[in-house]
Order: sequence, then structure tokens, then C-alpha cells
Amino acid sequence: MKGRFGSYGGQYVPEIVMPALMELEAAYEQFRDDPKFLADFDFYLKQYAGRPTMFYAADKLTAHYGRAKIYLKREDLLHTGAHKINNALGQAILAKRMGKSKIIAETGAGQHGVASATAAALFDMDCTVFMGVEDIERQKLNVFRMKLLGAEVHPVKSGTGTLKDATSEAIRYWATHVTDTYYLIGSVVGPHPYPTLVRDFQKCIGQEIRADSIKTFGRLPDYVVACVGGGSNAMGTFYDFKDEPAVKKIGVEAGGRSDAVGDNAKTLSGTGRPGVLHGAYSYVLQTDVGQIIEAYSISAGLDYPGVGPEHSFMKDAGVAQYVAVTDQEALDGFKLLSRLEGIIPAMESSHAIAYLDKLMPSTTADEVVVVCLSGRGDKDVQMVARAMGVEI
Ligand SMILES: *Cc1c(COP(=O)(O)O)cnc(C)c1O
Repeated sequence: MKGRFGSYGGQYVPEIVMPALMELEAAYEQFRDDPKFLADFDFYLKQYAGRPTMFYAADKLTAHYGRAKIYLKREDLLHTGAHKINNALGQAILAKRMGKSKIIAETGAGQHGVASATAAALFDMDCTVFMGVEDIERQKLNVFRMKLLGAEVHPVKSGTGTLKDATSEAIRYWATHVTDTYYLIGSVVGPHPYPTLVRDFQKCIGQEIRADSIKTFGRLPDYVVACVGGGSNAMGTFYDFKDEPAVKKIGVEAGGRSDAVGDNAKTLSGTGRPGVLHGAYSYVLQTDVGQIIEAYSISAGLDYPGVGPEHSFMKDAGVAQYVAVTDQEALDGFKLLSRLEGIIPAMESSHAIAYLDKLMPSTTADEVVVVCLSGRGDKDVQMVARAMGVEI
């Protein structure tokens, strides 16, 4: 069925949003296989973002565990420091082709706001980023970054003043300004066609891992591991291997500070159940009556109470497996990679690294594990210092 992954996905939006979604759907159908569009996207991925990213043999990390060989897919080396730029460039190019002059985006921690503002600056478009007042207060550095890049930050006071309120406000704005405005969503979430188009703009990660693997060790890896917030870097990593059961796909969610309600973001690996959030049917952290439970994680990029619908499908179909590590385990992963390899990972990516502690003992020396290092950790240093009780 169109726009569905099994029973997940769909377009659960107010009627007023449907014309905007239908216009986007038609445009994406037109451009997704257009050689000129794809060449344009490819050009900016290579010349601006820095693709292909390195495929790094983490020999010291490998020696630390003494089991399978570990490779890191270095999305952290991309322009603006994470995989988010892949998607922001793809959607900005699409917006341009659709004749839109303005981009709007929602952001929580500010990382997607910065990626969107970057793409808007590059393509000479206006950019407004919707952000909860609470998040604006917590993420002053990214707010200033967005303004430097020429974006306007629109404070959202409703609800709890966080990401979900900013998203609702962005959708409302889009519905009434669709003639000149493109809504740039930051992960494989939201109503159809977003989960599909964001996945298509991120699938270069897995395609490169396939080529890197063949070139480096002559076959496909045994495991690919990635962290899961909304699920875009994980979907980008998994998608090219979706029909390869020999490549085990592991998504790592945020286990937060405990398994208690509201203390984690274990949507797929914990107590999430199918429901509706931000226009899609997918696993969601919710109460018995379907109210959304606010997620928590030490890592701002992972504390989302939903997940992309294609991940829900992959979980039920057994295509991928979803697990979680706690805040503390992720902090240990952060320190481990910094000390062993001289690479300071994003706290989000540190969750994928931390899962190696659980995975590696069951692997053998002739196997290969690839971890998607979704971003760099410069943005998290202050927070990690605080968590370690260090005054900077
Ligand atoms: C935003 C972010 C994530 C989480 O988003 P996904 O859509 O799940 O990939 C993970 N890592 C980094 C570095 C991020 O900035």
C-alpha cells in the first residue's frame, strides 16, 4: 500500500495539511529518479558535505575487545558534524526544484535546525526554525549558530515548549503558507512521503558501507550497528542491507536513567506500542489512552517518544533488532572511543559504541562489525563535563 510499511506509516494529518502533502508527494515522484536531480544531490554530497565518508578500521577498539574486527563509518566527519546534512541538502534541493523560496524546520536540540539553516544559506532561501521556548533556553549556542547562518528562530510557547510543540506549530504554519514554503523534516518520521524521502537521502550511508566492505575485506559485514532517535542514521545504515539476512542490523535506543515511565526513549526496545504521532502510525511511547509520554535521554538527539514507521515494520518483520543502553553506558562509550581512538563521538553515537560491550563477547575473530558514527561530540563536551562533575 502506498505510503505504508506493513501497517505502519500513512498520513494521519488534519485535512488542511493534505494539499501540501500531495504536492510534495507528486514532486518527489517526479524527481526521485530524475538523473539531473540525483546528479545535483550527488554533487553537493561530494563537494559540500564531504562524501564518501571514511571507513575506518578501529584497530585499538578491536584489540580492546579481542573479537570481531570493528570498522567505523565516519559520518562525524561531514560538514556540520553529523549525518543530518545529507537529508537537509536533499530536501533543500527538492524545495528549490518545487519553486519554493522558504524553508521551515522544527528542532529540539538544534542540530536539525542548524543543518536546515546551513542548506538554506547555501541555496539562498529564507529559513524559519520552530523551536520550543524551553529548548531555546537550553540550546543557546545552536540558536546563535542558526542566526549566524541567516535563519529566523521562531519561539513556540505552547505545551511544554519542546520539540513536539515546535513540530505541531511548524505543521500549522506549513498548511497555511504552502505556496512558497517547504517543510524540511529532520528524520525518517512524519506523514508519507517524509519517511521514504528522508530514507532515500540517507541511504548513501549503507550503500557506501557495502562498497567499502567489498573493497576492504571482500564481503559484506556480519553486523551493522547504529543509534536510533527518529531513526534516520540507522535507516540510512540498514536500508541497503534490508534483503541481506546475513548482515545483522542492530538499532540502539536510549535507555536513559531507568526503565520507569518517562525515564527513557525505548520506543522499540521497551514499552512503546503502535499509535499515532506526528502524522504516522508507528511505535510510540504512550499512556493507556494514547497520550504521548515525554521521552528522556542524556542525549538530546535520541529523546524522541516515537520512531520512523519503517523501523516499526523492520522490528515486527525481524529485519532488524532493537536494543538499548543507559545514559551511564553511553557515557562510558563516549570516554572509551575518545581515549582509545582519539575520536570524540556525539552522545547519540556513543549509544551505538556502548552497545559493543554487550555485542562483542558473542562475536568471533573472523567476523566484522560496522558501527555508524553518526556525529562528532564537540557539541556534547560541556554536558559530559557536567555529568562527570567537572567544572569547565
Ligand atoms: C539527530 C542525531 C541523531 C538521531 O537522529 P536519527 O534520525 O535517529 O539518526 C543521531 N546522531 C546524531 C549525531 C544526531 O545529531
